[in-house]
Amino acid sequence: MDVAFVAPDEDAAHWLPGLRAALPEDRFFAWPETGDAERVEVALVARPPAGALARFRRLKLIQSLWMGVDGLLADATLPRGVPLARLVDPGMLAAMCETVLARVLDWHRDLYRYRAQQAEGLWRKLPQLMAADRMVGVLGLGELGRHVAVRLLQLGFRVSGWSRRQREVEGVDCFSGPEGLDALLARCGALVCLLPLTEETRGILNARAFALLPEGACLINVARGAHVVDADLLAALDAGRLAHAYLDVFDPEPLPAGHSYWRHPRVSVTPHVAALTEPRTALARVVENLERLRRGEPPFGLVDRAAGY
Ligand code: NAP
Repeated sequence: MDVAFVAPDEDAAHWLPGLRAALPEDRFFAWPETGDAERVEVALVARPPAGALARFRRLKLIQSLWMGVDGLLADATLPRGVPLARLVDPGMLAAMCETVLARVLDWHRDLYRYRAQQAEGLWRKLPQLMAADRMVGVLGLGELGRHVAVRLLQLGFRVSGWSRRQREVEGVDCFSGPEGLDALLARCGALVCLLPLTEETRGILNARAFALLPEGACLINVARGAHVVDADLLAALDAGRLAHAYLDVFDPEPLPAGHSYWRHPRVSVTPHVAALTEPRTALARVVENLERLRRGEPPFGLVDRAAGY
């Protein structure tokens, strides 16, 4: 099988030697090299150049090397009718759990408030709460949201989750649909966004949502920047309705110089690093999907193009 690696944002040296060792009978080409394009059956992609895949006319699988596929689905040149699989990478799941736990603990233990006090040279003890006093809401109970919810439960937090279809996760109060969202927002001191970006979820973190959250709640957005209506978030932070926002993702990226988020005292910015693909753990998942294709089985992580994730 001929496989084209069309992932300019990923270092081919982290992937190709391992893939070649695991699948010695297959041939791998690193873009812009493709071998005979007519023979390529699989494209491994991460932000492929627009139109790059059109030359592979016998493609049987497009395997994303990332978990989020909103960028790929927005590319009008992405071949239709070819199964698209996203990567479900254990290393990335672990990284996302660590990132969210770090932020929830920063909020829970008032570390962001102590940093602000330090800047003013202020020695003042804040009341201590227990994790069990806190309700954390997780928007999206997919691969990432479910793992994060379970890790939060292990730390003793109460957890609510929201999904499109009604889900069951042991120990988590599960909500779905528009009424479910309102009910979840009203009870959460911290809100974690782990939704995919679709037409339904774009702008979901808006003035209406912030008004439903309890006074002094915090927002942790590690999904996509376009989930947030920036002007609404800044207004909620300025008014003190929200105590803090931990933002990893932005629209556009990189976050433009001079954007209000950079220096806002109630905003913590990270440059889209909540969870990166970890080739050391992801490689086996890619190999598995190539083997499944060879056996005529559907790939893991098949994307539902109609749903948009
Ligand atoms: P996933 O497995 O596809 O799960 C998505 C979850 O969102 C599902 O529970 C789904 O509901 C729910 N959902 C989708 N549309 C909804 C709607 N309209 N209303 C309510 N719930 C809805 O996704 P994932 O792998 O957990 O990843 C989530 C997102 O994280 C990715 O799409 C990507 O944008 C982001 N991400 C960010 C980073 C980073 O470094 N910042 C890294 C990786 C991923 P159902 O359960 O009913 O399907």
